Amino acid sequence: MDLRENIERVRAGIDAAARAAGRDPADITLLAATKTQSSETIRAAVAAGITACGENRVQELTAHLDDDAYGPAQVHFIGHLQTNKVKYVVGRVELIHSVSSERLLRAIADRAERMWLTQDILLEINLAGETSKSGFPPEEALAAARLAASLKGVRLRGLMCIPPAASAPGENLPHFQKLRQLAVDIRGEMVDNRVDMDVLSMGMSGDYRDAVAAGSTCIRVGSALFGPRPPMSPGGTAPGPSLPHD
Ligand SMILES: *Cc1c(COP(=O)(O)O)cnc(C)c1O
Repeated sequence: MDLRENIERVRAGIDAAARAAGRDPADITLLAATKTQSSETIRAAVAAGITACGENRVQELTAHLDDDAYGPAQVHFIGHLQTNKVKYVVGRVELIHSVSSERLLRAIADRAERMWLTQDILLEINLAGETSKSGFPPEEALAAARLAASLKGVRLRGLMCIPPAASAPGENLPHFQKLRQLAVDIRGEMVDNRVDMDVLSMGMSGDYRDAVAAGSTCIRVGSALFGPRPPMSPGGTAPGPSLPHD
């Protein structure tokens, strides 16, 4: 596995998809999904040009922070977060992508307020109503956004989704388009709330081109950079198999 080559390949894929959609590739962040990776691999990825890493598990986040593995790269949290672990994440990451319930939203805001900081967050939306996945149903997204806007400790930056694993190119495009439209609708409904919702976190190794075509500003890529992962043990977010990629 050649990390540099993989990064270049994914970047080229982002560039092509962005240009085909009339978008500026610079508007799309390539977030390395670093779950199960060692501090050494993370260091190598950052040395090879990765500017943002996304962690799924509090334990791995803490270990890699202790190791000073990220260097100058941003750190994001993208995995399922339990309310009792919020204290290990708030104030330590640039952006929490996976705010999936009102209870978690309040816990993050509470913790942030007590630390005198504002935590940037995304609302995770469960687009397809999959019972195996967390996230707000689309019809509850506006209420959650309104709640977020009312809480001093958080700043709502946008939406995130993990659609069902696609088995063919183009299959997840409608999901991505739906998330984008939802963000547009929420912005439209909240013109008075000073929300600056400019982040759409969507697209993984198997479907990031479709996500970019639909307006993603942040793709979360693991296996296309680091190679296949061993299956996750219970407790981790295992988004299921993704499309084979080049
Ligand atoms: C693991 C993971 C990814 C990356 O998945 P790949 O298919 O390996 O690119 C993206 N988002 C989340 C939330 C993940 O857990």
